[in-house]
Amino acid sequence: MATRAKLEQALLRFQQLEPVLACPICRTMLRTQPPTSLLCQRHHSFDLAKNGMVHLVAGPTKTQPYEKRLFEQRHRLSQSGLFRPLLIEVAAQLGRHWSGHSNKILLDAGCGSGFALHYVREQLGLVQERPYGLGVDLAKAGVHLAAKTYDCLSWAVADLANLPLQAGTCQGILNVLSPSNYSEFRRVLAPEGVVIKVLPTKAYLQEIREISSPGQELKQYSNDAVLDRFRQEMHLLRQTTVRYLWPIKHEEIRAFLEMSPLTWNLPLDSLEAVLASGRETVTMEFMVLVGARRQAN
Ligand SMILES: [Zn+2]
Repeated sequence: MATRAKLEQALLRFQQLEPVLACPICRTMLRTQPPTSLLCQRHHSFDLAKNGMVHLVAGPTKTQPYEKRLFEQRHRLSQSGLFRPLLIEVAAQLGRHWSGHSNKILLDAGCGSGFALHYVREQLGLVQERPYGLGVDLAKAGVHLAAKTYDCLSWAVADLANLPLQAGTCQGILNVLSPSNYSEFRRVLAPEGVVIKVLPTKAYLQEIREISSPGQELKQYSNDAVLDRFRQEMHLLRQTTVRYLWPIKHEEIRAFLEMSPLTWNLPLDSLEAVLASGRETVTMEFMVLVGARRQAN
């Protein structure tokens, strides 16, 4: 699509989101301002980038040196279907709490390259439904990929600690393999809304971690603290585990090592060693947590 048409479409989608958006600096309503801006009531202005994404952050953002590579590789593997069984479960859990024709939104908090929001909406048949979904991440490299790939949704560089949203506007919040900010989640969540958090389990990519550092890495990694924190911060409605095996392909080796903070500092020969060991699959195992606001919140 030509840049101009793409920008017009992106602005129209942000217009659909006007009732839920908030200025990250002063929290007043944000309105679209043609041709390519969002403007708050106190005249803070945010311009759409060429790919249709917008920076909704109060100050400058820092780019981490690893993040471009991480999001590119995770994106590449997501395109080959690596996360599909996981996202089918996420969509099923969200579907139990999603009431049709809501004027509230589905937020992907920590969206990275955007595959989760896109796929889950598709699974739930929400593709044409308005208002459109919003994906936010502080990592510009991820949001850039999302805007480039899924131009049917809205994407913003934003801080999870200062979400550019009015209170009570999200019917669902996806938080997939990303840090959380629970006080912000509770602020923007509608009373009937749910947070769906995905975290890796001890078995996630265990073949790679076992071979690269026998005994150590597996012992070190535990999701207990993350799970405890979720239970403290949210009312836990459900907890499920999704487990499947993914066939190792030689051409995906580098992508596998670089897509996760758990493995990105392992040497490239780690997966070669997995291949040499005769194993043909790696374990994908995740915990899916569904949480609501506590009554007292
Ligand atoms: Zn403002």
